[in-house]
Amino acid sequence: MKKDLVDTHCHLYLEDFSGDLEEVIIRALEEGVRRIYMPSIDSNHLQSMLDLQKTFNGTCYSMLGLHPCYVRENYREELDLIKNTIEKDQFIAIGEIGLDYYWDRSFDEQQMICFREQIDLAVQYSLPIVIHSRSSMDACIQVLQEKKSKSVRGIFHCFSGNLQNANDIIECGFLLGIGGVITYKNSGLAAVVADVPLDHLVLETDAPYLTPVPFRGKRNESSYLKYVVAKIAEVKNISEDEVAEVTTANANRVFNYNRF
Ligand SMILES: [Zn+2]
Ligand SMILES: [Zn+2]
Repeated sequence: MKKDLVDTHCHLYLEDFSGDLEEVIIRALEEGVRRIYMPSIDSNHLQSMLDLQKTFNGTCYSMLGLHPCYVRENYREELDLIKNTIEKDQFIAIGEIGLDYYWDRSFDEQQMICFREQIDLAVQYSLPIVIHSRSSMDACIQVLQEKKSKSVRGIFHCFSGNLQNANDIIECGFLLGIGGVITYKNSGLAAVVADVPLDHLVLETDAPYLTPVPFRGKRNESSYLKYVVAKIAEVKNISEDEVAEVTTANANRVFNYNRF
């Protein structure tokens, strides 16, 4: 790979990386991954994420947000903390935010409140948002359609829907985050991605999760982004360099890369 890559979604601050973090980043850089964007999940992980951003300045970038799976009784405190923190540090996006109806259904209502309030916050600060959606595709798209007039923009991360879903999301001004799932035979994602123009795609690992083939089942890391690039190139019948070039330009645009 000659061109630069961007990992738009990586949880580098999690325990999974504490033993070999530097090696992980060196391997990523060796594979051309120039920037790694870190989605926030809750306040407990905030400081370790900001520390990473400082240590690996110019490579690692922080987002700010409350992940739907971390919306609990204390969600109001978490939202207040986000609102009080947003001006205190450099945050590249609000994320990851959204709706997760796969695991726990007891906070559906609170998840929706958090999703909407965090979108409004992003609009207020002119930041992009990074959306997490699981078993909630229609509900997420509906929220985006409602908020469309406010010119919300961002990434629909770990996209795994059908072509109609893809078109609806693109229509709302969003990019699709494509990761290891595209290499899974039964996911059906490769066929959908084949029909979506490259201009609407960005690369992500969601590391340590969703490891691409041939390392499926092991810990994921940013250097494995090349397997996602290879698969997109294969299904679209274009060069890996073109995949790298266009997805990196898309990522730079959505994150307003020259801002800091
Ligand atoms: Zn997610
Ligand atoms: Zn994530």
